[in-house]
Amino acid sequence: MIIDCHGHYTTAPRQLDDYRRLQVAACDCVSRGEPYPAIADPSISDDEIRETLEKAQLRIQRERGTDLTIFSPKAVGMGHHIGDAQTSARWATVCNDLIHRICGLYPTKFAGVCQLPQSPGVAPANCIPELERCVKELGFVGCNLNPDPTGGYWKDPPLHDKWWYPLYEKMVELDVPAMIHVSGSCNPHFHATGAHYINGDTTAFMQFLTSKLFQDFPTLKFVIPHGGGAVPYHWGRYRGIAQDLGLPPLQELLLENVFFDTCVYHQPGIDLLLKVIPPENILFASETVGAVRGIDPTTGHHYDDTKRYIDAATQLSAADKAKIFEGNARRVYARLQA
Ligand SMILES: [Zn+2]
Repeated sequence: MIIDCHGHYTTAPRQLDDYRRLQVAACDCVSRGEPYPAIADPSISDDEIRETLEKAQLRIQRERGTDLTIFSPKAVGMGHHIGDAQTSARWATVCNDLIHRICGLYPTKFAGVCQLPQSPGVAPANCIPELERCVKELGFVGCNLNPDPTGGYWKDPPLHDKWWYPLYEKMVELDVPAMIHVSGSCNPHFHATGAHYINGDTTAFMQFLTSKLFQDFPTLKFVIPHGGGAVPYHWGRYRGIAQDLGLPPLQELLLENVFFDTCVYHQPGIDLLLKVIPPENILFASETVGAVRGIDPTTGHHYDDTKRYIDAATQLSAADKAKIFEGNARRVYARLQA
C-alpha cells in the first residue's frame, strides 16, 4: 500500500471561495464597527465534490499508483492572518467539514487532517476544541500547524515557547501529529510556495533543535514537509551547531519526534534526502494538486510525481521503500490504523 501523507483540497468548488470572499468582506465590516453579517455556509453537493476529485486527486492516485492520501484543506487558503480568531474558527469549521465529507465519500482513498483556527496574537490553546472535534467526531488523523499565523511576519512566539504547550498536550493526548505548514504570505519579500513554505520548514526545524521541547513532550510528533525545507542540504551545519551548543547528536535529539516528507520535485533532491535522513524518518508525499503543476521538460513527467523518484532510488532496499511508502505513515499517523 502507498500512503501519500500530504495532499490538499486545492480543487474545491467555487462556492468555497465565494464563501471566503464574503467572510473576508465581513471582517472589513467588523473593522468599521459594523455588526458581523450573517453568511450562509457554502452549498456544495456530493456530485460536485466527486467531480472536483475524480478529475484531479483521484485521477492522479490512479495514474501514479498510490492508494490513500492524508488530506487537508488548501494550505495557502488557511489565511490565518485574515480577520480574528472568530473568523479563523468559522473558516476552519467549514473547510474541515468539507474534508470530512470527502473522507465519507471515499473512505479508502482519503484520511482527514484538519486546519486549525489559529489567529495572530491568540494563544494556540484556542485550537483545542476544533482539534478535538476533528479527531474524536470526524475521525481525522492529524492537523496542520502554522508556525507563523501572521503570514510572513513571524510576530508570535516560536514553536518551543510555552505559548504552544496546551495544544501540544492535546496532540499527545489524542495521539495525533502535526504537519508544520505555513499558509499564504502577505510579506512581499516571501513568495508563498517558493520561499515562505521552505522558510517555515527550515525555521521550525531550527526552533526544535535549540529547544527542550521533546524532553517535555517525548511522544510529540511533527512532519516537516517539502523534504524538510533546507534541512537535509544543510544537515552538516545543523549537526555542527548542535555540537557547538553541547547538544546530543541530531538523531538522538530530534529524530524520535521529527519526520520529513518527500515533496521534493527532482531526483537529485530526493537522492540527497534519502542519503542524509534515515529511512525511518521519511514519509512519502507529493502535495498534489499543489505548488507545482507543470511537467519537467528534462524528464517528461510532472515535477510533483514524487513516486517516480522513490521508485528510481537505487540506494533504498525494498524494506526501506516499504517504510517510506507505508510503514512510517502508519507509525506517525497512529490513528490511521483505526
Ligand atoms: Zn502542503
